Amino acid sequence: MLIPARMSEAEEQRWVNVMLDKLAAQESRRTLGDAELAQRAERLSAQYFDGRARPATVRWVTNQNTRWGSCTPSEGSIRLSHRLQGMPEYVIDYVLCHELAHLLVPGHGPRFWRLLEAYPKTERARGYLEGVVAADRLPHAPGAQGE
Ligand SMILES: [Zn+2]
Repeated sequence: MLIPARMSEAEEQRWVNVMLDKLAAQESRRTLGDAELAQRAERLSAQYFDGRARPATVRWVTNQNTRWGSCTPSEGSIRLSHRLQGMPEYVIDYVLCHELAHLLVPGHGPRFWRLLEAYPKTERARGYLEGVVAADRLPHAPGAQGE
């Protein structure tokens, strides 16, 4: 840990406690690994799509900054942006469901969204992600940078 210079002992202790709290918070939001992600996708497919969506691979990628997830139906591959890591589980599950649904229905027509209605938090998760995008567009707004 890098401790700012010129701190009194009491200040330093308080600062260490704040950092420990932050680390604990990060730990509780520990991200899923690729294997856990694949397991999760399998469970969601069973739960919401009668197990019909069967991805060959599900993994995190760091080169995807404009999309939350993507899917190549011909390969059965699903990729999730690492930007989702640390977001609430229902949001990650929504993106997984979204990409799983693309294995069954390409594009975003009425059939696609009807399929996604099976996942109960679709609207809530879309709202959350829209909020994240909106906040990203205001990089200098107070609070937008966190901390
Ligand atoms: Zn889509």
